[in-house]
Amino acid sequence: MVNESSKNKVVLFFKEKFFAHKLTFFAIVLFLLISVTFAVVCFVYRGGKNRSGVVTPLVSTEEVAKSRSEDVPPNENENVMIENSSKEGVDLNSKAKEVGAFKPTGVSIKDYSKLYPDFYTQRPEKQVILEKTVYLTFDDGPSERTPEVLDILKKYNIKATFFVVGNFSQFGKECMKRIVAEGHTIAMHSYTHDFKKIYKNVESYLEDIYKLYKLIHDVTGVKPSIFRFAGGSKNGFNKGNYREIISEMVRRGFDYFDWNLCNNDAISRTVTPVSKCVDSVLKNSKNYNTAVVLMHDSKPKTTTVEALPKIIDGLKEQGFSFEKLSNKIYPVDFSLIKPYS
Ligand SMILES: [Zn+2]
Repeated sequence: MVNESSKNKVVLFFKEKFFAHKLTFFAIVLFLLISVTFAVVCFVYRGGKNRSGVVTPLVSTEEVAKSRSEDVPPNENENVMIENSSKEGVDLNSKAKEVGAFKPTGVSIKDYSKLYPDFYTQRPEKQVILEKTVYLTFDDGPSERTPEVLDILKKYNIKATFFVVGNFSQFGKECMKRIVAEGHTIAMHSYTHDFKKIYKNVESYLEDIYKLYKLIHDVTGVKPSIFRFAGGSKNGFNKGNYREIISEMVRRGFDYFDWNLCNNDAISRTVTPVSKCVDSVLKNSKNYNTAVVLMHDSKPKTTTVEALPKIIDGLKEQGFSFEKLSNKIYPVDFSLIKPYS
């Protein structure tokens, strides 16, 4: 009885208050329709928001590829993609490509293409990874040590790589010519080697490295295609802009090489003992299948030259072959940071 009575009361209530007022009824229906539409629109666009909350249209995979090749090194976007995806709770397998179209945050890619329009190189379509191979590299030359290093390499019939600086003296130029004439790779390091100056911003880095590119080309006729950052690809002076510098240099086709072995000839201002130079390489080289050895070509580094034959003999005994670096060599394994991530 109680239920019957309350049911009647409800029916009566609707009859009197709502159905009697058609306008109120239609207003409620309209309100509900608008609410549902709004909710659906919000749901659909949620997947297209980037981290700053701006709604961005989803793009095709072709556009993703285009934005990669133009703005950032390969894989750079993939990291951001994963970060964005997980933050947005998007299924990586089905959405990763689409979300990956967003430009990386924190790396402001300016357009540097108007600077030095002749400062480009062509990266080969295929690069190689060579088994049980060592790449001897000499930084900071030419110097009084360069002819001595070249003589040793000639004796062993080994090709190496020289990351040179802006030594424009007649002697320096002769050394550069000899490096090329004897079949070694001449590569860019830095014109001034002045960390504060070159790592101030991307423009100052480009200014320095382009000056060196021109010098090498003018002196030897070779247009270098690889480089090594002064101080390594990530150092105390380029923390804020190394990604942007890498992006710009890689966009221009240049690959860079750090190292995974060194003879420790630059650990202090005093000369490193020969035995330490040798041991630093040979004790660690056993752990590698391919290795880039960092050494220095500068006037005080007399023990670098003295240690070189012992290092070569030791590496030969360990079964290594010797090669020079070039842009045909896949560079990923030889970086302090992964070059493309
Ligand atoms: Zn250097």
